[in-house]
Amino acid sequence: MKFKHLDRQYEEIKDQIHQAITDVLESGQYIQGENVKKLEKELADYTGSKFCITCANGTDALTLCLLSIGINNQDVVFVPDLTFVASAEAIVQAGGIPFFVDVDLETWTISPEDLKHKIKIINEETDLIPKAVISVDLFGNPADYDQIRQICKEHNLKLIVDGAQSFGSEYRGESTLKIGDFSTTSFFPAKNLGCYGDGGAIFTDDPEYANTVRSLCFHGKSLTESGIYERVGMNSRLDEIQAAILRVKLKHFEEFEKNQIQKNAELIRNLIQENSDKAHNNMNLSVQKIQKESNPVLSQFSILFDSEEQRDWVKKKMEEEGIPAQIYYLFPLLMQQAYSVYDLNLLRLKSEQMNRNSRSISNRILSIPFDAYLSDSEINQIIQVVFQIRLCLSEFRNQ
Ligand SMILES: *Cc1c(COP(=O)(O)O)cnc(C)c1O
Repeated sequence: MKFKHLDRQYEEIKDQIHQAITDVLESGQYIQGENVKKLEKELADYTGSKFCITCANGTDALTLCLLSIGINNQDVVFVPDLTFVASAEAIVQAGGIPFFVDVDLETWTISPEDLKHKIKIINEETDLIPKAVISVDLFGNPADYDQIRQICKEHNLKLIVDGAQSFGSEYRGESTLKIGDFSTTSFFPAKNLGCYGDGGAIFTDDPEYANTVRSLCFHGKSLTESGIYERVGMNSRLDEIQAAILRVKLKHFEEFEKNQIQKNAELIRNLIQENSDKAHNNMNLSVQKIQKESNPVLSQFSILFDSEEQRDWVKKKMEEEGIPAQIYYLFPLLMQQAYSVYDLNLLRLKSEQMNRNSRSISNRILSIPFDAYLSDSEINQIIQVVFQIRLCLSEFRNQ
């Protein structure tokens, strides 16, 4: 068993992928051709966004959004403490200051209460300017957008949805990639919609932002006059081969993978519920809460144990049985060496930035193998090993 079965996916779509790559090779057009244009149209249609601009990866996608808003070293961008490092890295690369917000203990996404609290701290205790919020749909689970949107509106903050992990997920019946002033996603191979290399995309309904992002992707060039550079940009493009691959995979995602991922998530949830009901020793495993407004396509399935000790015991047991398990994320970002400086910058706020929930979750979380290609019997096997935790609990008691 693998953590993600990209090999099984490839077996199913092999012929179409080979044909798509061959067609690009024979066309003689490798950058900015028909495939990129068609993919952008297909992705805009799929998400319901007016504009889609593809780029080199999901990290650039975030950086490009921030650059097009225009932020400087007095501007604060709020970001959850429990996320992949790229969500915060983009803020620093674009020239702003990341301010880490705690996550909700049940949904594991950015906490609206703590966001309000952190905005208040910046407004009352610093000369810095609150500029934007990056919300992350962690593991594919949509953030609490009713509240986040309201807070952004009240405080005049731009909302950027980091949907790198949530392609296909919906909130109140629409794609989360349509929710932000900007939304972004990543086509890294292991994401919900992945290519065979790196890729990313930006979604927006605002024509002006769309034009600025498109210009920034091409070294800041004018979109109307050739040879004219209007701003300092980047080189961040998706290539034709990856675009052709993504067009095949988008179809397969819509027709097969999305349903299968949702079916597998349901099966795992039910098995965990049944086994917990049967256990008599006050065992307490929890899974990510899905809000009633949300219809997620999960990219990871994670389980929260009672303690770090229990989590590490199960991880070891799984590895012994040949089941790869991963810890996302080993540390919240404020505890990472590279980002702890953003605590020191605001030294007197140190205690305020503890972000208790993020720390507690990272100590106790474990992600199990999860994708569209796991069989029911493999899922049963995984859950059986998880529930060997009972043995561990009685071992502890007998000591
Ligand atoms: C993967 C990921 C990114 C970055 O995407 P890349 O394509 O790898 O640059 C950004 N944010 C989150 C939450 C991610 O999981």
